[in-house]
Amino acid sequence: MTRRISVAVLLSLFALPLIAAAQTAPAQRTLVRAGHVLDVKTGKLADAQTIVVIGDTIQSIQPTASVSAQPGDKVIDLGGMTVMPGMIDVHTHLTMNPDFDPYRELTSTSAKEAINGVVNARTTLLAGFTTVRNVGASGFVDVDLRDAINAGQVPGPHMQVSGPLLGITGGHCDENLLPIQYHLQGDGVADGIAAVQHKVRENIKYGADLIKICATGGVLSKGDDPQASQYTLEEMQAIVADAHRLGRKVAAHAHGAQGILWATEAGVDSIEHGSYINDEGIAAMKKRGTYLVPTLYLEDWMLQSGHLPPFYEQKMKDVSAVAKANIKHAMQAGVKIALGTDAAVYPHGLNAHELDVYVNQIGMAPLAALQTATVNAADLMGWTAKTGTLEPGKWADIIAVEKNPLEDVRVLEDVKFVMKGGVVYKNER
Ligand SMILES: [Zn+2]
Repeated sequence: MTRRISVAVLLSLFALPLIAAAQTAPAQRTLVRAGHVLDVKTGKLADAQTIVVIGDTIQSIQPTASVSAQPGDKVIDLGGMTVMPGMIDVHTHLTMNPDFDPYRELTSTSAKEAINGVVNARTTLLAGFTTVRNVGASGFVDVDLRDAINAGQVPGPHMQVSGPLLGITGGHCDENLLPIQYHLQGDGVADGIAAVQHKVRENIKYGADLIKICATGGVLSKGDDPQASQYTLEEMQAIVADAHRLGRKVAAHAHGAQGILWATEAGVDSIEHGSYINDEGIAAMKKRGTYLVPTLYLEDWMLQSGHLPPFYEQKMKDVSAVAKANIKHAMQAGVKIALGTDAAVYPHGLNAHELDVYVNQIGMAPLAALQTATVNAADLMGWTAKTGTLEPGKWADIIAVEKNPLEDVRVLEDVKFVMKGGVVYKNER
């Protein structure tokens, strides 16, 4: 009790002057003069608009003719450019790099991963992705990266982070490269109801914003089968119950059809990859409103440029042979889709190539594709009030490109201007 009182006293001593200072500081206005503003909900383009930014927030969007600059305003001229909300990638691994040499995997350290994270967070932001959901990192390096970005120490997107991935012993989310005498185990390995409950609570204790689990085997792991289910339905139900009660969403890595169905029935919020999704899984996901997060561009990149050990390579070929057709079927059936890339499996910063696959390979309408990277992704993250559209009260997360992306989504592979939270990180106009 004494401790509680002293904390309250400290809070009142320090918090009040800070609040008072914030209220009296003059509000710096930034006027973003946009040639065209794209509404990603309707696809409508409004010409000659000015986005008024105060602090990290959009205050208003009005015709430029009606907003004159006042003394002290900062004016950014994006005349001739198409402006839209910053993009969102709900499946990244910013602390990892595309290197699948088993020895280098085994000799990674938290320090190396933190350095990777600093570099990759900047690269991702400059590619126009102002928000990411990072779904898997060891040692809670992702938590520290998120906090360093939020504190302004290093540039990067807004992040939600999962910490270590929950998975079964010997599964996709374990470490299977060494024999038993080395006793190597993934940080998030937990078997059985009590153990998975403990692991969910532990991840939340150390800073996770969401819980990531491995429902089936995967491609880039040794000795497991992407089509085989790993967690049982009961284990996943226990994970989801704890996570949701504690205010965290659950993302499930799932390739095989049974794992997709079980994870969906257990109540996870998103299915990641979904390569072998079938009609039963599609029906269950539609009924529950579960998001599908396909990660398709990585297959193109990997088949062209990847160098995988043989025990990964065959699985990559097998999954790539079926995934696009199955995802296309799910998309046409009306499953909700949010954009995710698995960036780290290929170089960070190429995230927008995923949109090209959606539009030009599986036939998604360009506006629907843009929505996967904006409104849908924000909805999945529970951040609709913060980002995903350009609207008063939301974060000033603004990007600009040279043409209307609805005419050619590939223009988003070359973003010219990036503002995140009212701060300009790139202006190559
Ligand atoms: Zn992943």
